[in-house]
Amino acid sequence: MKEKFYLILAQNSAQMLLINKLLKKEGIQTDLVPAPPESGTVCAVAIKVNGDYLEKSKSLITKNKIEIINIYEDKKMKLQGLIDKKLGLSVTKTFLNILKKIENGENFLEEEIIYLLSTKNKKEIDGIYAAADKIRKETVGNVIEIRGAIEFSNYCRKKCKYCGINSQNKIKRYRMNEKEIMEVVKYLDKIGMRTIILQSGEDYGWGIRRLTELVKNIKEKTRMRITLSVGEKSFKDYKNLKKAGADNFLLKIETTNRKLFELIHPDGNFDLRLKCSKWLKELGYINGSGNIIGIPDQTIQDIANDILYFKEMGINMIGIGPFIPARGTPFENIPHGDVNLTLRTIAVTRIVCKKVYIPSTTALASLDKHAQVQALKAGANTIMLISTPEKYKSDYKIYNNKNMIDIDAAIYASEKTGIQLPAYLKV
Ligand code: SAH
Repeated sequence: MKEKFYLILAQNSAQMLLINKLLKKEGIQTDLVPAPPESGTVCAVAIKVNGDYLEKSKSLITKNKIEIINIYEDKKMKLQGLIDKKLGLSVTKTFLNILKKIENGENFLEEEIIYLLSTKNKKEIDGIYAAADKIRKETVGNVIEIRGAIEFSNYCRKKCKYCGINSQNKIKRYRMNEKEIMEVVKYLDKIGMRTIILQSGEDYGWGIRRLTELVKNIKEKTRMRITLSVGEKSFKDYKNLKKAGADNFLLKIETTNRKLFELIHPDGNFDLRLKCSKWLKELGYINGSGNIIGIPDQTIQDIANDILYFKEMGINMIGIGPFIPARGTPFENIPHGDVNLTLRTIAVTRIVCKKVYIPSTTALASLDKHAQVQALKAGANTIMLISTPEKYKSDYKIYNNKNMIDIDAAIYASEKTGIQLPAYLKV
């Protein structure tokens, strides 16, 4: 008999973590994974347990007076209508087999992901985008989620070779203060934004105390969810930020190829980056990761492994962007990543990871303004608006010619794709 798995959904992330701890203590193996589509909750996390331990888990949870919202069987997501009779003539057998796997909700092998990322057959490429679009609709719906990003400091202690704000680069530095940030936060709250992203370099000037106070203040004054994207911190720091009210964290692995990671991060440590991501998950953050497409020497196999990593780690938000050279960096003369390969990676990530948030990234829109629309038709479902004040935003130069995505770009993308803008947004 095949093993069955179940997904337990609790009221909130604190209770979910409590359950997770409780079950683990009793020797029950658990995993934190994206909540199933039928739960209807917005990109939450669920606890996955083996069916043999479901009854024991339930009684432990009731005994500890924790409320469960629901329990779902971890069913494979089935899709219909990907294969029609005519298709057999124009695609390979390998591709048909992969389509069958997509229809049956089965897991993919590395070589199948490589195939999807590299096929040049036009019919097959169309098939991949159509499948990704369908899965996007069924898992996260027909709405473009909108996020407001405040890039609140471009000071950074790191030396990432690709990044324009790395500590070695001679650029104009800025650091917003609390008052300036709160002004933007209140505006975003007023126009109905549900989630804000606070992003910065790894800035000593915004130490943990200061950041924690900011998070608390935002939580007191607004009802918005907070995504932090402030780089590597200690377990204790992540814990304090979570306690203060941070909901989500975006820390891209950038590449899962250790050698490549070390090449592009002269002062980075691959194991630490991995550990940070695991800590964030353990602490109950909605966990964001992602990669860069077109790093020197990166192979299709590397990208396939990135996608498998996102799946295995139960990552909830996956930012996939092309590399874009940044002036003054060691990589300033390296050509930018390929737009089509980035779009394909987005589509295959949607097919493999199913219910996750995938932004149509600013980097993609910076290389080609139509690419933002194409990404939304290829499995992406989120747009990040640059909400950094006018006087600072051109100084947050992580790469050249950044496209300052605003609400008009989101309206345009919605009109072009037929995917709605969220009703909560007052624009
Ligand atoms: N300091 C934070 C935020 C980094 S900026 C952190 O370390 O997480 C956010 C993302 O921008 C990075 O994760 C990286 O993937 C992307 N980025 C930076 N420079 C880039 C470049 N030149 N081309 C493409 N993406 C880049």
